[in-house]
Amino acid sequence: MKKLLCLVLVSALFIAGCKTTIDPVPIDLQARDRGNYLTDRPQPKISKGNKRFLVLHYTALNDEKSLRVLTGGEVSVHYLVPSIPRKERGRPVVIHLVPENQEAWHAGVSFWRGAEKLNQSSVGIEIVNTGYTDEADGTRKWYKYNDAQIELLIPLIKDIVKRHNISPYNVVGHSDIATQRKVDPGPLFPWAKLAQHGIGAWPNTSDVKKYLNGRYMKMPVDVLSVQKLLKQYGYQVPLSGELDSETKNVVKAFQMHFRPRDFSGVPDAETEAILRALISKYKL
Ligand SMILES: [Zn+2]
Repeated sequence: MKKLLCLVLVSALFIAGCKTTIDPVPIDLQARDRGNYLTDRPQPKISKGNKRFLVLHYTALNDEKSLRVLTGGEVSVHYLVPSIPRKERGRPVVIHLVPENQEAWHAGVSFWRGAEKLNQSSVGIEIVNTGYTDEADGTRKWYKYNDAQIELLIPLIKDIVKRHNISPYNVVGHSDIATQRKVDPGPLFPWAKLAQHGIGAWPNTSDVKKYLNGRYMKMPVDVLSVQKLLKQYGYQVPLSGELDSETKNVVKAFQMHFRPRDFSGVPDAETEAILRALISKYKL
């Protein structure tokens, strides 16, 4: 069709050298270049951010379905990390769906450190991961993140956190801010590894030991004191003094993030010591 149009034009106007293809819109490579990673499309680089929180999720869907759902209009997110991010010029590429200065619908009903409905005040990253499946033997199977995803997450999160000046303790999982209904990014999300790269909050081992103060790690602790510490750290939790199901979900969310080898939801001496170590380190 283009060829035909060209021929018509050539014969009508006697113009030589008519192109048979239309030049693609020039891609501004600079707009995709974020240093240690690239975005898949040109989006304005936000030099001065206005977001207080960074929220991490898994999609519980494959690549294709994740992209379809996140562009379907019901939910949305700023960045999507594919199951195996492609590389260009030796750097991993993230799918950039919503500009950072716009609101994306990824947090929903949520609470963190006094803020509610975090959609407006956060940048969201969805990671393609199955999440979990409940097996026939009654166990829950969680799915690992790929090393290639973590390799992309590290420069991506560092860049966002730096530009928006987000505090380490405000880099959170969906499960931290919606404790009663969400479990993503799950217990296999490598928070400890990210912390080694300077991302997010993590307690000093020596502080945890100090606050454990010789107690047996699984030693039962006073529920009200743990509820108060969870609240001080940022969670929405009742101060009932009882291990009700709501409190248990909050403890579980905390343990999934900071002690994933045991996230039973039962508060114990180690859980309390980690909380105290975090609160002291970040002066909360
Ligand atoms: Zn989520």
